[in-house]
Amino acid sequence: MRIVLISTPLGFLGSGKGGGVELTLNSLVSGLLSSGHKVDVIAPKNSKLHKSNEKAKLYFVEGEDQISWQHQNYDSPVTIPNNSLLAAMLEKGLEIAKEADVLLNMSYDWLPIWMTLNVEIPFAHIISMGSESSVISNLISKVHTKYPYNFAFHSKIQANDYPFIKKPIIIGNGFKLDNYTFQDSVKGPLGWVGRVAPEKGLEDAVYVANELGEKLKVWGVIEDENYASNIEQSFPHGTIDWMGFLSTNELQKELGKCRVLLNTPKWNEAYGNVVVEALACGVPVIAYKRGGPSEIIQHGQTGYLADPEDKKSMLSYVEIIEKIERKKCREWVEKNASTDIFANKVVNWLNKVMNEY
Ligand code: UDP
Repeated sequence: MRIVLISTPLGFLGSGKGGGVELTLNSLVSGLLSSGHKVDVIAPKNSKLHKSNEKAKLYFVEGEDQISWQHQNYDSPVTIPNNSLLAAMLEKGLEIAKEADVLLNMSYDWLPIWMTLNVEIPFAHIISMGSESSVISNLISKVHTKYPYNFAFHSKIQANDYPFIKKPIIIGNGFKLDNYTFQDSVKGPLGWVGRVAPEKGLEDAVYVANELGEKLKVWGVIEDENYASNIEQSFPHGTIDWMGFLSTNELQKELGKCRVLLNTPKWNEAYGNVVVEALACGVPVIAYKRGGPSEIIQHGQTGYLADPEDKKSMLSYVEIIEKIERKKCREWVEKNASTDIFANKVVNWLNKVMNEY
């Protein structure tokens, strides 16, 4: 197959602004290339693919970013900026897709989904978020009646946000295991990884660290400065150890030293890449029982699931975290979320999409 991938219209690949989509795109490219497919990637200028993906053809596009939907109101209208990056990526994608088998969109936005109704090319969409916008959800519902196979989701619980899809296609996610080293450091620090933004609930993890009189190591892009400084001021100085945004290789070296990852989403997290990355390093995860993490973590085996917002229960699970065998965490990723498993699911799905046309 020749597959044309459209990246996220939020920051270049490698900036961290695109969140989990950046890693997911690289994992998918890697899995597709290793099973013999050809891949073209349309991405913002300055984007970089992982070194092992250099066989994919990368096309750069310039323009203004979209506004992320999770930071708008649910009923906000669609905004398309002057000199739109998304529109330019789609134009490029359509041009190349004439020679390809399928166009695969990874941006959560209105325009590419609307175009599905208006082009003759198989146009598939990986939906990377729960329902964050009424205008997008309504459009998915409309397109889905004509093209029932064109949407795939990362987890069942994410897909539940789109109840008009009775049998959602679930593709999970994939991780290149060679990029993560197993570490058996049961006495390490507490860790937290993610975009620092309200939907990620960092304050609850800081609460746990503070109750234990420990520091919390925090990795990720600070997307919302006010939110970050409010949390910092609500706890004793130095409780948060800001580690910045690191490349996957640097991140996994540090993350693997942690004794546990705390994952505290306040929204219906579509999947939760950081949960699986921690598991791949042998780090158990304690998360709220909501969104993708609740489908990934096996309570009592690879971590613990606390009731949403129940910080005290999260704290009590940290106290028994040594009961989790770190090897089991890594094993779960090997059996369930390798790049090959992921790419296989995507290829099976894309075949269904192509058959529709
Ligand atoms: N990440 C990273 N370096 C960091 C912190 C985070 O590369 O220092 C990446 C991480 O690998 C993951 C992404 O940021 O792929 C966050 O994705 P996730 O699915 O957890 O949440 P999202 O941001 O998509 O809501």
